[in-house]
Amino acid sequence: LPWARACSLGCALVLAGGSLALDQMTDWRLSIFGLMILFVVYYLPDGIVGFVTQALGRPRADTAQNGRAQAALAVEADGLPDASHGVLLTVGQAVMQFGGLKALNGVDLEVRRGTIHGLIGPNGSGKSTMMNVLTGIYVPTSGSVVFAGRDLAGLTSAQIAARGVARTFQNVQLFGEMSALENVLVGLHHTFGSGLTGIALRTPGWRREERQARARALGLLEFVGLASLAHEEARNLPYGKQRLLEIGMALATRPRVLLLDEVAAGLTEAEVQALAGLISGLRDELDLTVIWIEHAVTTLLRHVERVLVLHQGRKIADGSPAEVVRNAEVIEASL
Ligand code: ADP
Ligand code: MG
Repeated sequence: LPWARACSLGCALVLAGGSLALDQMTDWRLSIFGLMILFVVYYLPDGIVGFVTQALGRPRADTAQNGRAQAALAVEADGLPDASHGVLLTVGQAVMQFGGLKALNGVDLEVRRGTIHGLIGPNGSGKSTMMNVLTGIYVPTSGSVVFAGRDLAGLTSAQIAARGVARTFQNVQLFGEMSALENVLVGLHHTFGSGLTGIALRTPGWRREERQARARALGLLEFVGLASLAHEEARNLPYGKQRLLEIGMALATRPRVLLLDEVAAGLTEAEVQALAGLISGLRDELDLTVIWIEHAVTTLLRHVERVLVLHQGRKIADGSPAEVVRNAEVIEASL
């Protein structure tokens, strides 16, 4: 019948059209979700909760003003008894053996509080190994490491860091996609007392901690000369500034001693001078003890009180820069 044919044709059209529309709906649904996600990423980077919190008018305390106010970066006095004669760190006969190779072969080192102590030597002489032994990354085959009157044997790197030993790495180690400020905040994480609940509920206690941490991080950035780049992604900073940021991060842990592994390598002459000024500032203004390792030594020798020279895992000289430079063996090996 014509009407029946027309009716089934109509039904087929409706069904076909309907299923097409349904397919399109599915496509559209994906597109709409995609757009929503993009919208959130671009316009609500702090998430919905963060957006609502801000909308309720809670100011973020991250002005440089605040940073300066908190630039009291003061490192706590290490409370050493005077009996130690101001010696903060002592390494006794350290041996670090890798298979048949002794990267350190009976090395002694004595670092006085509040000094900049240089550690120099040609490539492969054991400088980084010494640093890894001091920070608990390597457990020495034999010998002792005593810091602030306590033996560090058997402590993990984290425990040693908590006692006040901080470091930079020979290869810059930063969180590239995080801002300079956020990198320093990572170094400050140990100062947070709030648990997950505090963070999730954004309790007043957590907010106060967050505010103080940001102010302190800004103070540290200012100290290393990066305040104006606080919100720049770390990977976008020039190499020399990444070095400074790494020092800022290390300072966040409130160390008593800071170990710097070849921080001047790859810097321009002007950057090296600025870095040397900063390192002197660490001692003079923050009362920090610094162990400064370098392969190229000219600048270093002008800024350190004492210097240890390694060669093939052995100590070949130890003394003031002037004494060390007079030593023929040293000149041969590394200068
Ligand atoms: P430097 O920092 O003075 O250039 P290193 O301390 O890095 O020297 O290295 C000293 C020696 O120890 C080198 O010969 C190096 O190959 C070796 N070494 C360092 N770490 C290790 C390791 N984890 N395993 C084996 N050999 C190592
Ligand atoms: Mg090295």
